Amino acid sequence: MDLLAEIKALEQKARQLEPDAQERQKYWTAVQDYAEDFLGQIEEIPAYVESEKKGRELLDAEIGPARSLNELLALMGQALDKPGLNPASGGHLGYIPGGGLYPSALGDFLAAVFNRYAGVFYGSPGAVRMENQLLKWLAKSLNFPETAAGNLCSGGSIANQIAIGCARDAAQLKARDFERAVIYSSKQVHHCVHKSINMVGLREAQIRYIPMDERFRMRADILVQQIAKDRAEGLLPFMVICSAGTTDSGAIDPLEQIADCCAAENIWMHVDAAYGGFFYLVDELRPSFKGLERADSLAIDPHKGLFLPYGTGAVLVRDGQQLFESQHLEASYLQDAYLDTEEVSPADLSPELTKHFRGLRMWLPLQLFGLEPFVAALTEKRRLTQYFYQKIQELGFEVGPPPQLSVMLYRYCPKSGGQNSFNLALVKKVRQDGRVFLSSTTIEGQVYLRLAVLSFRTHLQTIDNCLQVLAEAKAALLASGEWSD
Ligand SMILES: *Cc1c(COP(=O)(O)O)cnc(C)c1O
Repeated sequence: MDLLAEIKALEQKARQLEPDAQERQKYWTAVQDYAEDFLGQIEEIPAYVESEKKGRELLDAEIGPARSLNELLALMGQALDKPGLNPASGGHLGYIPGGGLYPSALGDFLAAVFNRYAGVFYGSPGAVRMENQLLKWLAKSLNFPETAAGNLCSGGSIANQIAIGCARDAAQLKARDFERAVIYSSKQVHHCVHKSINMVGLREAQIRYIPMDERFRMRADILVQQIAKDRAEGLLPFMVICSAGTTDSGAIDPLEQIADCCAAENIWMHVDAAYGGFFYLVDELRPSFKGLERADSLAIDPHKGLFLPYGTGAVLVRDGQQLFESQHLEASYLQDAYLDTEEVSPADLSPELTKHFRGLRMWLPLQLFGLEPFVAALTEKRRLTQYFYQKIQELGFEVGPPPQLSVMLYRYCPKSGGQNSFNLALVKKVRQDGRVFLSSTTIEGQVYLRLAVLSFRTHLQTIDNCLQVLAEAKAALLASGEWSD
């Protein structure tokens, strides 16, 4: 076969990758029906499904042959969208719930169709302007200065990593300094912070866990003493990692006092606000975050507090130039792109070059709905947590500290049979029931259940259901005879 004939034959096959308008319409309708079927039942379908196969049916459909969309949607319905946690359900009250706003799905769809190159301004000035506008809005909303710069990344883990790498570079730490470098946090800091420390090469650094007060907040007075002690020993205190909303209990460290300390000691202040950050938009809660505006860097998760689908985090650095210097590198094959730098490019502020155009899934719902319903929803989540805090005590449960945000701890203490085993059994029973999903944690050897209210679909009815499920599960466990009151 000559070359032209071969090319034409290949083209014939390759064109199967481009369905025509009629075919696209068929796909679209099928996918939309599938999504509508799911959303139509979202109030009733379980928040957790225990399944025998755990999605193993997927493995029967080997990659290779072409299949029909209907066959694939049926497979997804069975193996993908049922077993395990249903994060789209308002009944997801464990871990830190995510979102899944519908306009975000439309934004993702369009972002994938157009496939704009959002990493570099020259490639897609519109996409980069949109992401930078969102970051500027974030910075302004959190009272960061105009000099701030940031990046929309995949989540809080990467946001923390970018910030910690930036702090390392700003302090001009070299490998020979790593063993003397000291990082301060509380024991309640998220574990991704430790991963980040390892990833940026600081595995050997000294980590100091500063004791907490009775509400799981870092003791700033002890922080000050510890820094003095470390300096006296010739170490290099260089970074404090605070939490603005811990995962376990939603505690906010005393940011203002920590900011004073960091300013006095010339130490980088990083705030992990992945969970709690968007509560700053709620007027009555802003005072609890006082000092956050003074952070050198901050991680925040729009896929938590802005109810976006998973895969959207953000990092802000107060002095944007420091982030640029930490991340910017040039390459000759990108030389044409350097001709147009009216806007700073995401590729110069993050480890990613080619990236998902995350901006659209954030921009579209914010623009479409306006800010008001977001603030109302965040306020509602907090009120629901306060409501639960009262009601769960009426059911005879012990509670942790009053919730600062929308996460709280509680447990049931039977007189005999063991408290930890009871609460572990309780969380399991709730999972098997499936109407709501809860998760547990252990603090100083004590097992607690957590309530985390952050799904935009969680409303009063959901919390009442949760209380009902807990009351029933508790009664069933007590009736088993293993524990007693
Ligand atoms: C969720 C969370 C993280 C991790 O963020 P991901 O988006 O899951 O990567 C970090 N810190 C806190 C406080 C969190 O709640």
